[in-house]
Amino acid sequence: MSGFKGLQLYNTLTKTKEDFIPEDETNVRMYVCGPTVYDFAHIGNARPVIVFDVLFRLLRHLYGEEHVAYARNITDVDDKINKRAAEEGISIRELTETTARQFHEDVAALGCLEPTVEPRATEHIPEMIAMMKVLIEKGHAYAAEGHVLFHTPSMPDYGKLARRSLDEMKAGARVEVAPYKKDPTDFVLWKPSTGDEPGWESPWGHGRPGWHLECSAMSEKHLGKTFDIHGGGIDLVFPHHENEVAQSRCAHGTDVMARYWMHNGFLMVEGEKMSKSLGNFITIHDLLTTETFGDYAWPGQVIRYAMLMTHYRQPIDWTVSKLEEASTDLNHFKTFADPDEEDDTPTPEFLAALCGDLNTPAAIAELRTLLAAARGEAHSVAEKAARPGGYTLDFDAPSASKSLARNLRFLGVKLEKHDVNWVQKQARARRQIDESSIKRLADARLEARKQKNWAEADRIRDELAGKGSLLKDVKDPETGELRTEWEVAR
Ligand code: AMP
Ligand code: ZN
Repeated sequence: MSGFKGLQLYNTLTKTKEDFIPEDETNVRMYVCGPTVYDFAHIGNARPVIVFDVLFRLLRHLYGEEHVAYARNITDVDDKINKRAAEEGISIRELTETTARQFHEDVAALGCLEPTVEPRATEHIPEMIAMMKVLIEKGHAYAAEGHVLFHTPSMPDYGKLARRSLDEMKAGARVEVAPYKKDPTDFVLWKPSTGDEPGWESPWGHGRPGWHLECSAMSEKHLGKTFDIHGGGIDLVFPHHENEVAQSRCAHGTDVMARYWMHNGFLMVEGEKMSKSLGNFITIHDLLTTETFGDYAWPGQVIRYAMLMTHYRQPIDWTVSKLEEASTDLNHFKTFADPDEEDDTPTPEFLAALCGDLNTPAAIAELRTLLAAARGEAHSVAEKAARPGGYTLDFDAPSASKSLARNLRFLGVKLEKHDVNWVQKQARARRQIDESSIKRLADARLEARKQKNWAEADRIRDELAGKGSLLKDVKDPETGELRTEWEVAR
């Protein structure tokens, strides 16, 4: 089957997992709705960026880097932007530029590659005007009182993506229907601008585009009239994506816009919907730089990894304990993954997990399996060499250690930036324990090591590390016996 490389994706359009077969395997195209730039991006916004970055990496691996185009737009014209700029007394341009810059910094810290192209809405006004002209000519849109509206009854299968009937939508739209609408479910393509509102000249007067139209015009310009994958958060299915489909299909006379529609589940914070009023609204920037969530500033790779511990279609509960679990894994990986590995080819098991609808929890389970194997290798090599500090990989790294490093590189989790003792350092002031307890635990660990119970030995070592005590095994130069020394971080 041409173009099929083993990747399966769940398609919102058909509600089934399907073999992914691109329209043209030499030009695989993906569009993901990007941020509206008026404020710091929150941790929920980070989810689609990270998820589709993993998919981008996977597509590049399967089809070749030069054969994949990924467009992620910036919405830089929107009423939320106008409002915020007015509140802050700055120009719209200044607000959108600083916010976009901040977004780039944030997602780079989360290990995301830049998309192939990052179109901005304000740079595609002529394309939007052209699309509206076509829609009007074809009888799918009409002008009224300075507005241009899409007439939903003109499209027989409007509602197909979201699986909503027109009647249902009519019932939902009944509150305050604008008088210029022919049908309550008709939606705005263009609206008039007055005063300080940003606006452009058009055949229907001075005005600005609606959000849905922006994505249809930008995806056509950069990816074509039809393309392979369209992604975003689950909240975008209706009305945003439904309306994108309506605009693009009716303008181009095609029976699809994108062939695979993918939606990530929502992110909650400690079991609650994130909102400013609940005081649990967390920005990526705050997570990275301040101690507002769990008393730590979290490294980008910990945030990325924690996000991928949950399958993208599941809701995710963003908790401090999830981030702590992620840091613990990363600390182990840093100890046991070969730091000199430069290859980022995934192992077959790891690749298979990702090819199963981006099953990152299964991929992470594979990393943990490799970690256990790399540990075993390290222990046996350390034993053979009877080296003090048996955890240092100062021997030719064996295969599990290399595989672990390769898979982590593929996933975009940057260990070189990871400070192994990061959590421990941050925790030290909070969780100090007294010397006699350390000694008791250190002895128990040595005993476990003698019994070759590596799991228990590692568990104790981690427990102590979590309490700020870093163990080091030293061989007595005279007797050859191992004993444990420790350093209590202060
Ligand atoms: P927005 O700037 O609100 O249009 O959102 C940008 C992207 O973030 C969209 O793909 C949204 O679906 C996604 N998004 C927003 N909030 C959340 C959330 N709490 N959980 C997951 N994704 C979200
Ligand atoms: Zn969009």
